[in-house]
Amino acid sequence: MTRRRLGLLGGTFDPVHVGHLALARSACVALRLDELRLMPTGAPWQKSGVVASPAQRLAMLRLAIAGETRLQADAREVERAGPTYTVDTLAEMRAELGPDVSLILILGSDQLRNLASWHRWRELLQHAHLACTQREQVPLADLPAPVEALVQSRGAQALPDAPAGSIVFFTMPPVPVSATALRQALARGERPAELVPPAVLDYIEAANLYGAGTGGSGHD
Ligand code: ATP
Repeated sequence: MTRRRLGLLGGTFDPVHVGHLALARSACVALRLDELRLMPTGAPWQKSGVVASPAQRLAMLRLAIAGETRLQADAREVERAGPTYTVDTLAEMRAELGPDVSLILILGSDQLRNLASWHRWRELLQHAHLACTQREQVPLADLPAPVEALVQSRGAQALPDAPAGSIVFFTMPPVPVSATALRQALARGERPAELVPPAVLDYIEAANLYGAGTGGSGHD
């Protein structure tokens, strides 16, 4: 029997954009995932300047993945009070899933480089594998020393038949977009239809998020 593979992609998703969707779809194919959960953070403790509310970020995410059966939104961090720590989320999911399911945390290279700043980061691999990919303009080479040491000890060519514990890498076509650049474009009054799914752009404009539709008031 093949072990079920559940991927997890956390993010601020402020707002969700085509880079997130490309990452999710590439991860599904490259890692042969049965399901990928996209999980908006509640109160991101490492990011200031989050603009949309947790409920709005979740709503936009749901619009973006509607109809894609392998992609699901997971609201648990949005619903949790207090700071959001990925290690707690993984432990909670592991307790729900039992010991057999392969749980795979998807990380762009910006997040991998930053990993040693995460709360109890060395415990992440007790609950899940890490699957990392290069994000445009953020190299996977020359990682910070503690992260490199972890990759050296836990790196694998492919996901092993185990529920957790390894680090693997996969490739995706570069998609040059970030939520920060997107918010700035919207605040300038642009309509970046190629960077966000149409239903999400409609939502942003209807809710007047990021200064969209106000003729570029400059609020970000
Ligand atoms: P911000 O610009 O506000 O920091 P962001 O666009 O980086 O936001 P996040 O919500 O922080 O988006 O990212 C969630 C995950 O998606 C991270 O693992 C990040 O590396 C990845 N990611 C974001 N944009 C891209 C992209 N264009 N290509 C590949 N991965 C991406």
